Amino acid sequence: MKLADVICSHCEAAGLEPQAEGAVCRYCGTANALTGVLCPRCDEVNPRGAEVCADCRQGLARTCPDCGLRQWAGVERCGQCGRALDALALSSGRWGRDPANRLNEQARSVAALKAHELADGERRSAEFAAIEARRQALLAEARHRRDAQQRIILMVLGGLTVGFIIFVGVLVVAAALGD
Ligand SMILES: [Zn+2]
Ligand SMILES: [Zn+2]
Ligand SMILES: [Zn+2]
Repeated sequence: MKLADVICSHCEAAGLEPQAEGAVCRYCGTANALTGVLCPRCDEVNPRGAEVCADCRQGLARTCPDCGLRQWAGVERCGQCGRALDALALSSGRWGRDPANRLNEQARSVAALKAHELADGERRSAEFAAIEARRQALLAEARHRRDAQQRIILMVLGGLTVGFIIFVGVLVVAAALGD
């Protein structure tokens, strides 16, 4: 399996890129540990312990000519004595030091940041819309309650007026009968 086909453990996108240790997701930047030995030439992820790439036959381990440390073929310097192992610069040269690659990484992180900010902005405006909707609902409810109170007051006033008229009428009739 090629490294580019390995799924990111964080965002599950396929598109890992090799790094000094493991691989990093080109979309979310998460560092992924590799389950096998990466071929420094063709990016094949070989089974753990493999000595030769199953795809391109590149040796996956090499021995430092100075101190004899056996190590991954893609390292630029011996992990023990620091000797430059530039015979395989063909491989590691692509990583990190490649200006075009670094530019891509910068563009990607800027794009990721923008996407993040955009999502933040959208969430904020959604929250604002929710607050506004709640405010409008409370206002409508208050208006409704006030209207209901006004109707009750009008009804009471109307009742009192009718009662008063009837009362006056009874007084007038009583006065007439009394004469
Ligand atoms: Zn990812
Ligand atoms: Zn290979
Ligand atoms: Zn060494």
